[in-house]
Amino acid sequence: MKTNYCDYIIVGSGIAGLYIALLAVERGSVIVLTKGSIDDCNTRYAQGGIAVAMDKNDSPELHFKDTMAAGDGLCDAGAVRILTDEAADCVADLIKFGVPFDTLDGEITLTKEAAHSVSRIMHAGGDATGEHIEVTLSRQVRATPIKVLEDCLASEILVQDGKVIGVRALDCRTGSMEEYHCQFLILATGGAGRLFKYTTNSDVVTGDGIALAFAADAAISDIEFFQFHPTVLRLPGVAPFLISEAVRGEGGLLRNVEGRRFMPDYAAEAELAARDIVARSIVYEMKQNHSDRVFLDATHLPARLITTRFPHIYRFCRDHGLDITKGLIPVAPAAHYLMGGVKVNSWGETNIPGLFAAGETACTGVHGANRLASNSLLESVVFGKRVVQRTEMTVPSCHCEERSDTAISHCLPHREVLSNVPPLNLPNLQSLMWDKVGIIRSGEGLEEAAGILATWQSLLAQSSDRLSYELNNLVLCARLVTEAALLRKESRGAHFRTDFPRTLPEWQRHVVFRKNVIN
Ligand SMILES: Cc1cc2nc3c(=O)[nH]c(=O)nc-3n(C[C@H](O)[C@H](O)[C@H](O)COP(=O)(O)OP(=O)(O)OC[C@H]3O[C@@H](n4cnc5c(N)ncnc54)[C@H](O)[C@@H]3O)c2cc1C
Repeated sequence: MKTNYCDYIIVGSGIAGLYIALLAVERGSVIVLTKGSIDDCNTRYAQGGIAVAMDKNDSPELHFKDTMAAGDGLCDAGAVRILTDEAADCVADLIKFGVPFDTLDGEITLTKEAAHSVSRIMHAGGDATGEHIEVTLSRQVRATPIKVLEDCLASEILVQDGKVIGVRALDCRTGSMEEYHCQFLILATGGAGRLFKYTTNSDVVTGDGIALAFAADAAISDIEFFQFHPTVLRLPGVAPFLISEAVRGEGGLLRNVEGRRFMPDYAAEAELAARDIVARSIVYEMKQNHSDRVFLDATHLPARLITTRFPHIYRFCRDHGLDITKGLIPVAPAAHYLMGGVKVNSWGETNIPGLFAAGETACTGVHGANRLASNSLLESVVFGKRVVQRTEMTVPSCHCEERSDTAISHCLPHREVLSNVPPLNLPNLQSLMWDKVGIIRSGEGLEEAAGILATWQSLLAQSSDRLSYELNNLVLCARLVTEAALLRKESRGAHFRTDFPRTLPEWQRHVVFRKNVIN
């Protein structure tokens, strides 16, 4: 086994990993490990854009209020303040790196998305924001001394005397293992969207960073909160493809299979209600009409607006036989974004010295129980920058204690091994999670899933290749999501239980898991 050393090791090459790498290389040597090619990530698929208060009618204060409202009582106010106050500075970095945000007459154009009170979403290439960010940042990275190791999967965090000293990684091409030692290890591995049968997420988003951090005894917080996007293309034989919220922002309407507009029956904000409300309303409509889809109607909007504002969506649908300027778009909800993750303080520090987390892997506290649309790209850069700033400070680390929230820490409970469970494979895992731990949950369904997942975990073989590492990580993440959802005996934000349909004041607190410690 070979050993390599550098100042910063960053695991992941989405917006969080690449942006941090570009800032860190000004301060020391940097290696980026990524398990696929550099642009295999969720970032590349982001459509809507990045939220920042720039309009004359907007302010960081208003952005703060909208974010806090979306989070349904669980946002960390200090973290949200940082997010909204430091947004403009970090977006200026992206512009400096060359991200071509859309402009009109020299001014950046802003659009509106659900639950934002004003237009504040910057976008690039119309609806290809993530692709432009990813391409721009990876081009910049290539022009620096940053070493990018593709097909390199981080498989274990190395800890010595309570401090992180590096990471073990699998070379997915040769099957060999190597150790990489560093002063600062930054997990930027994205969320865990592949947990579910229907998902907008890339194949690489398998909860690896969360599983690795948990195994090293880092705290995992708020993992029961999974956001389901309401409008994902539902066409037979076509992989789920996001139809951006911005289509509703521009006036798109939701109709049931009978052609009736239904959202005003469920929420005053109608199509622009928070994502969890729209997703659940769609599920109820589908159930009532015995259908697996509803329709998004953009036919009343000017065709030119659709083709220029949503060129990517327009082309994708047209290539699958659907002209969205003339016909209704069949859609249904799909798993989209993980609000929880590796618990960090406002500097991206975990409870283990030397270990940081950023981007969707991290739980900074800005999303609470529900993420405000277009705040995740922003979170990646704002808290990514703070990770690098923190590594320059000489004062002792305060680790995760800075977040003085009311959290209850748990270990994963021991469960009896069941004798009659379906075989463990990715489709079975994803179906179980979709059916029992999805948009509408119940105590009974969660209990059933928890038993099966614990049994699967007890039967896991030692990982040997990328797929087996990913499956093992997904099973662990599935257990964490399910056990947290069972513990949370209420409904709040994206977590909805039929047996506890109300939001309860005593549950305005966080569920935290640690491998070893109970407080
Ligand atoms: C379809 C879609 C549309 C979206 N639209 C928006 C939007 O408009 N605005 C917004 O703010 N957010 C949006 N989001 C969410 C946002 O894109 C993500 O939250 C964000 O891009 C996450 O960035 P990241 O850097 O944390 O992770 P990712 O971009 O997912 O990157 C994770 C990286 O980690 C690597 N990795 C994972 N595990 C390992 C391992 N074990 N070893 C080595 N490498 C590993 C992966 O290969 C990948 O390179 C969207 C998401 C999707 C899926």
